[in-house]
Amino acid sequence: MKSYDVRCINEEILKKLELKKRYEILNAQFMGILDDKQKDFFLKVQKFCRKYDSKVDHTTADVYDWIPDFGEKGYITRSRAFPEFDLGWNGPDGYVGLTADLIRALAVDQFNPQFNMGAGATVLAINPLAEHHENQPHRLQALKEMVTGQAVGSIFITEPEVGSDAVRPLTRADPQEDGSFLITGEKIYTTNGPKSKYGVFYAATEPGNGSTMMQGLFELPAEGIKIERIGIPWVPKLFLGKETMTNAVCKKENVLGGPGRGKSHMFEGLNLERMGIAILDVAEIWTALTHALIYINMRKQMGDIILKHQGVGFTFADLWAKGMNFTLAALRFCEKFDAAVEKYGGHVPKPIEAAMIPIAHSLKYQGAILAERITYECANLMAGAGVCDNTLMHDLMGISRIQEVIGGTRQIQQYVMSMSFRQFYKMI
Ligand SMILES: Cc1cc2nc3c(=O)[nH]c(=O)nc-3n(C[C@H](O)[C@H](O)[C@H](O)COP(=O)(O)OP(=O)(O)OC[C@H]3O[C@@H](n4cnc5c(N)ncnc54)[C@H](O)[C@@H]3O)c2cc1C
Repeated sequence: MKSYDVRCINEEILKKLELKKRYEILNAQFMGILDDKQKDFFLKVQKFCRKYDSKVDHTTADVYDWIPDFGEKGYITRSRAFPEFDLGWNGPDGYVGLTADLIRALAVDQFNPQFNMGAGATVLAINPLAEHHENQPHRLQALKEMVTGQAVGSIFITEPEVGSDAVRPLTRADPQEDGSFLITGEKIYTTNGPKSKYGVFYAATEPGNGSTMMQGLFELPAEGIKIERIGIPWVPKLFLGKETMTNAVCKKENVLGGPGRGKSHMFEGLNLERMGIAILDVAEIWTALTHALIYINMRKQMGDIILKHQGVGFTFADLWAKGMNFTLAALRFCEKFDAAVEKYGGHVPKPIEAAMIPIAHSLKYQGAILAERITYECANLMAGAGVCDNTLMHDLMGISRIQEVIGGTRQIQQYVMSMSFRQFYKMI
């Protein structure tokens, strides 16, 4: 439950804004668009979150303390089956895939949006390890720890001087005779960095030359790596890092992709990573819409509930319509992606994956803008109640503000889409 020093919102309304009621409203709206399997899973995650919510204080807690409990249930990620492990939730009755992950995120976000984003950043380290563990026991161990919430993970891509141009890292990788590398350079804005046990990084044997880029795994803390927490006031509960590496050792067995393979390793995660953010956007949109829907049905001004004042009711209808349309688009993508994974035995063939790239980027591009706009407008409709600290609306305002920056800015999404249009044209 969220705590506050001074209650600003009417007690009766605040009671209706509690997690249980928000889930009830959400379920009523999703009744028509989820199938039975999806609904069952949605209710299962909600039940867990409700129970957990009664035990925690969202204001004072360290959200990272909750990760093992969510991980044990498979609520950190559901996007893959992880057939390497018997996880309890990935057996014949388990529900996995991108659609399951969207549903997981919808439920978890209502519980705590920042916690939801932190979990998503661990998945950025999970995905490359899932692709490149090569059955090596220590890599499998790292993967299992992150998937089950025993360890936090992060991805080290961005550098102080290299942001959008991520394929040209200045961080240097010096090859050693024993197959290891010495890594020297700086990374920044690493979500979960200071809390991570595992970090997947990129460096180049010739700094700035993308074709010499490698991908490796750090086990943290490690000698030669200084990690400082940086301040991102929009997400005060998350730990973001600046990492300074000075001849930090990447052991031979932790090289996930040698020089020349880093770029393709970075690109192979494009769809899943863009969708990870689009899914976060869907979740944030509904956490905001749900708060506002309840509030405008209860708050009275000038003799009537404010929903009945056209300026509020019609504005909310517009936000709801945009949110629902975007949700349907994201859901459709997830279902199609899952169907392709199943049809082709675990891996989507390259041409289909390539055709999905601009779609995933378009969803990230539009979803990030919508999440920020819908949250802002919902808070406005709630007015004082939307911007005070009594509900999660304040957290949502901050987190939705950064959606366009993370995972590639607006212009980078547009750039990738435009490159796909070139590829499509070359096919005719
Ligand atoms: C909260 C948060 C969490 C993050 N988490 C992570 C993480 O876990 N791991 C990680 O590696 N990074 C992370 N990042 C970094 C994020 O991915 C980068 O901030 C982002 O990629 C942009 O890089 P930059 O900030 O250096 O901006 P720049 O690349 O310097 O961009 C500045 C401006 O120029 C525009 N621009 C740049 N190139 C072009 C172009 N060719 N055409 C048109 N416009 C262009 C951009 O769109 C932007 O508006 C995080 C950032 C934030 C804020």
